[in-house]
Amino acid sequence: MATYYYTSLFKKEDVRITSKFSTEHKGLDLSRGVVETPIYFPNKAVEGTVWKILKGYTVNGKYYDNAPIIYIKHKDGSGSRYIHSYPKNVKVTVGMKVKPGQQICCTGNSGYSFGDHIHFEWLKKWDDLNSRIDPTPFVINDKVLAPKPPVEPPVTPPPTECEKEVIRLNGVISGLNKSLADSQAQLKVVQAVANENMQSLIDTTNKYDSLRVDFNRVENERSEAIAKVNAGLGGVSAKDMFAELWRRLTRSLDREA
Ligand SMILES: [Zn+2]
Repeated sequence: MATYYYTSLFKKEDVRITSKFSTEHKGLDLSRGVVETPIYFPNKAVEGTVWKILKGYTVNGKYYDNAPIIYIKHKDGSGSRYIHSYPKNVKVTVGMKVKPGQQICCTGNSGYSFGDHIHFEWLKKWDDLNSRIDPTPFVINDKVLAPKPPVEPPVTPPPTECEKEVIRLNGVISGLNKSLADSQAQLKVVQAVANENMQSLIDTTNKYDSLRVDFNRVENERSEAIAKVNAGLGGVSAKDMFAELWRRLTRSLDREA
């Protein structure tokens, strides 16, 4: 069973290592079984400059034309080489600055090759082929180190006329709500005072009723007392009455005489 890897060189999860790095093979052969697959500048290279592109090269005394080798110097002084792309798929030129995710070339079968793939090399020192090391740690499973785009603060567009009106009305509404709350607080105070006054009125009324009862009782007692007194003085009153009647009778008798 073949093992598949993610690599930012392909931006794919289904890349196979068809030939590992060794002392005889100082690079990594990578393929996903699709011819002329785009190859991108890897994440861990951070930033680079294309400093040389060879048109061809010689292997075992044989010169291979139309077999470009692309040389890129990395920001930190390391470097990389890309081999087997067809010339038509080379997307960079000498002197060009490149960033991760930018296409460099494609897989291919140019030069000393026996099937579509990319031969990728990592140089510890960008211009020294003797400093070639195993590229695996730099380009296999290198997704998490993808540079993140800078986080820009969200831009708030200025409010439209309609939104301004809504904001103004919200201000008015909140002002009214505050006034309403104030009025309700005042109403509570007034109700408390009214309750107090009502209690005091009830107390006064009760007191009046109680006084009224007392007054009636005293009034009755007085009437009874007067009646008793009158009863006691009954004879005197009758004598006075007869005296008056007598006076009137004598007066009328005088007139008739
Ligand atoms: Zn190779």
